[in-house]
Amino acid sequence: MALVPGDLQEVAPGVRRLVAPNPGRMTGPGTNTYLIGVHRVVILDPGPAIDVHIDRLTEAVAGAVVEAIAVTHTHLDHSPAAGPLARALGAPRVGLRPRWPDHQDPGFVPDQLAIDGLVLQTDAGPLVSIETPGHASNHVCWWLRSLGMIFTGDHILGTTSPVISPPDGDLAAYLRSLERLTTVEATHLAPAHGPLLAEPERVIDALLRHRRAREARVLECLSKLAPSRLDALLVEVYRDVDHGLHDVARHSLLAHLLKLRDEGRVLLDHEHWSLR
Ligand SMILES: [Zn+2]
Repeated sequence: MALVPGDLQEVAPGVRRLVAPNPGRMTGPGTNTYLIGVHRVVILDPGPAIDVHIDRLTEAVAGAVVEAIAVTHTHLDHSPAAGPLARALGAPRVGLRPRWPDHQDPGFVPDQLAIDGLVLQTDAGPLVSIETPGHASNHVCWWLRSLGMIFTGDHILGTTSPVISPPDGDLAAYLRSLERLTTVEATHLAPAHGPLLAEPERVIDALLRHRRAREARVLECLSKLAPSRLDALLVEVYRDVDHGLHDVARHSLLAHLLKLRDEGRVLLDHEHWSLR
C-alpha cells in the first residue's frame, strides 16, 4: 500500500491510516495519523495543524464517538493538530507533557496523562499506553492487543532508525524502551512514518544490533583519535553515512557519547572526548 497524503487506507480491520501532507527528510512520506475504531474512535498522532488534514480527519470520524485525540509524543510533526481537533470534536487530548519544551509543540496540553497502562476504549479493542522514553522523554507507544498491533510513533520507524537528540532524547532510555517492547505480544508495528512492519522481534533486534554496532564504532574511533572534538569524531564514526545527514547524525553521536560517559567509559574534558 503506497503512502499517499490525503489517502485514507484501512491497514487492519477497524484501523485506518491517513498520511499528513508533510513529506520531508525527517518525516518520510508524511506523518501517519491512525484512526483506531470505526464507531468509537481514537485519533492517534493527529499530525501538524494543516487545514486540509484536519478537515479530512473530521470527515472520516463524522457520526462516530471520538474517545480521545492521543499522541505518541509532542514533536511538531505529531501533535499540533490535537488542539483544533479536540475543540472541533469535543474530545480530550491524551499524552504526556514535554520535559524539555524546546523544539516541541508548545500548544499541546494534555487533558489526560498517558501514564503507563492507561486504557482508551475503541470498538477495535482497548488501546493501552506503554511509556517508551528515548526518542523523546515523553514518548509513549500504544498497544492494540486485539489485533496484535503496537503503534510505535517515532520509537520504531518504517524506514529509518530514529534520531535521538539530547537532552530530550536519551539513548540508554531508548534501548531499555526497545527491550521492553520485545515483551509485548504483537504481530505488527504501526510506525508514525512509513509502512506497517511485520515480525516485531526481528525489527527490534535489528535496531538493537544497529545501535550496538554504532557504539562499537564510536569506541574504536575514540581509541584512534582521542582526545577528539565532536565534529572530528563525527566524520570518522559516520563515514558510511551520506554527508548531507551528518547534521542529524551529530545528535545521535552525542547521544552515544553521553550514554558512554554515564557508564563511566568515556570522558569529556574542555570539549574533547576520550576513553576512560
Ligand atoms: Zn519525533
